[in-house]
Amino acid sequence: MAKKTKGQELAEKLTWSTPNIGKKAPKQMNKAQKFCEGYKKFLDEGKTERECVRYGVKLLEKNGYRPFDAEGKYQPGDKVYFVNRGKSLIATTFGREPLENGVRINGAHIDSPRLDLKPNPMYEKEDLAYLKTHYYGGIRKYQWGVTPLAMHGVVFKKDGTAVEISIGEKPQDPVFCVTDLLPHLSARQNERPLKEGLKGEELNILIGSLPFQDPEVKEPVKLLALQLLNEQYGITEADFYRAEIEMVPAVKAADVGLDRSLVGAYGQDDRVCAYTALMAEIDTQMPEHTTVTILTDKEEIGSEGTTGLNSDYVLHYIEDLADMAQIPVRRVLRNSICLSSDVNAAYDPNFADVYESNNSCYVNKGCVLMKYTGSRGKGGSNDAGAEIMAKVIAILEKEGVYWQAGELGKVDEGGGGTIAKYVAHMDVDTVDLGVPILSMHSPFELASKLDVWNTYRAFKAFYQ
Ligand code: MN
Ligand code: MN
Repeated sequence: MAKKTKGQELAEKLTWSTPNIGKKAPKQMNKAQKFCEGYKKFLDEGKTERECVRYGVKLLEKNGYRPFDAEGKYQPGDKVYFVNRGKSLIATTFGREPLENGVRINGAHIDSPRLDLKPNPMYEKEDLAYLKTHYYGGIRKYQWGVTPLAMHGVVFKKDGTAVEISIGEKPQDPVFCVTDLLPHLSARQNERPLKEGLKGEELNILIGSLPFQDPEVKEPVKLLALQLLNEQYGITEADFYRAEIEMVPAVKAADVGLDRSLVGAYGQDDRVCAYTALMAEIDTQMPEHTTVTILTDKEEIGSEGTTGLNSDYVLHYIEDLADMAQIPVRRVLRNSICLSSDVNAAYDPNFADVYESNNSCYVNKGCVLMKYTGSRGKGGSNDAGAEIMAKVIAILEKEGVYWQAGELGKVDEGGGGTIAKYVAHMDVDTVDLGVPILSMHSPFELASKLDVWNTYRAFKAFYQ
């Protein structure tokens, strides 16, 4: 090789750019492929927050975690978990350092955009039976028509028993869908702005077309659908008021690309961080600081409710830990640091003009560290301090984790928020870190396996 010029040497020393892992460390692909087999299973098993919690608990128990007992006594290396109302999950490995030196928090969310059933969803129109929905989280409504949907959820019957519903996941199951117009008759619909391509009240799900055989019944198609649900689950129309039923894409996680370099699936925002965080938690033995791995609900609608991070459930959990150690919780929080683990928008060459290329994250360049999120002048953002940025970058570089910086699109192009500000609210230094995603919030999101793998490595380094 030719000797480097002075300028080349200086440039190497003074400039910085993020490498493409596929070029710089292609061998990582073997481990990434293997890791993502477990990830795809997690995505298929957990299409709702409740299912993610159940599957998460199964993995934790298999790996020696026990339900957290606030009256218990724990030693370094002990592993516990705590479930909040079936929809959020916290896991901890006790550390060697005393608790007053702080905990290491890693928070991801397990709710994803979807179509929720309304409380009184069922109706019949022109001999077809439908379910009314109200979408949950930010969706581009036109993407949710003519895509196979599965029905997931829980119903609490009058007698207090809970029934779990899942239709559309097994190969022999029927699926459901929202219909759309044919091109031959869509001239007027084509004139609508894209955001109204399908309107909120048009996201009605077709569930049946055959009638119950009785000329005296007013809505026989709806009745047959109710009868079938009643036979299978023992529920009646009134039970929908005591239910949470989510319509989610029925498609399974799959490898994408001839090189199988990407995972395509529903709900990778933010189950990609949930899975990597959970695996890092499980694989951490005898950490320096006690870990607090959070898989939370309700991020997509602003972290609201008792299972979202705007509630005090995490504070109360850390309070329980502090009570055990007989120290005030504020001392623990002040010395803690948190990764708010969530996805970012990967640069999409197909729509390049919404990104600022110097500050976007890219597929195959590793996990993305975000100093701030928010919109219109960082509004609603945590805006991490330089000190915590330095601390986290040092952890990543020590382990040789591939990482990149990322902003969510151009200034004033749009924006978004994460759980970061709710953790920071507890007086905990927090920074956002996650995985670049293509087609975020769509029924079929894409993530790079190399990025998923390096995010797991980042979380593991953060705990060790
Ligand atoms: Mn998210
Ligand atoms: Mn989201």
